[in-house]
Amino acid sequence: MAFAGRSNVGKSSAINRITGQKSLARTSKTPGRTQQIIFFSLTDYQRLVDLPGYGFAKAPLTVKQQWQRQVEYYLQHRQSLQGLMLLIDSRHPLMESDWQMLHWCQTVNMPVHILLTKADKFSYGKGQAILQQVRQRLTAFSVAVSVQLFSATKTIGIDTARQRLTQWLTFSDHDSSKS
Ligand code: GDP
Repeated sequence: MAFAGRSNVGKSSAINRITGQKSLARTSKTPGRTQQIIFFSLTDYQRLVDLPGYGFAKAPLTVKQQWQRQVEYYLQHRQSLQGLMLLIDSRHPLMESDWQMLHWCQTVNMPVHILLTKADKFSYGKGQAILQQVRQRLTAFSVAVSVQLFSATKTIGIDTARQRLTQWLTFSDHDSSKS
């Protein structure tokens, strides 16, 4: 399964918290610095994939186009990919580039689980309101999309995210027909 999201959304922090590793993914304060697809092997059959962050305003057009080609190709051609964990900043939900990711997933019928990150920035009530709004805006999507609040720093939603990850990885373990 793969992790994707805009630069600085908190993707590295989330990967480290969900896997219980302190520095599996590099956390960085420089948006758009990591432009590679990084694979982490958990077992011989189970891999986490860290897709390069997107939506970085200052990057040159050629870098953005290269990102687009690379990630679109990856999503379309990785037969073994069970699902995408899409990280979206709860303070700026569903920006244009997030919709683009969702549309690619819909095109290839890829299940998506959205983590609304940095949920610690809000009160419980405000967080729930954001969650409902995002769910409503996603009802038109035909692909399976689930959404939850998440915070790597204040431990919100870690167990739920882990359950989804385990579900996808366990399924892939049993599905030997896929490569
Ligand atoms: P990435 O670029 O998406 O991999 O994001 P990072 O994990 O490197 O985090 C980007 C910035 O957001 C850093 O300054 C983190 O400390 C901060 N951050 C990450 N997760 C959280 C969170 O759950 N809550 C808050 N308040 N800040 C976070």
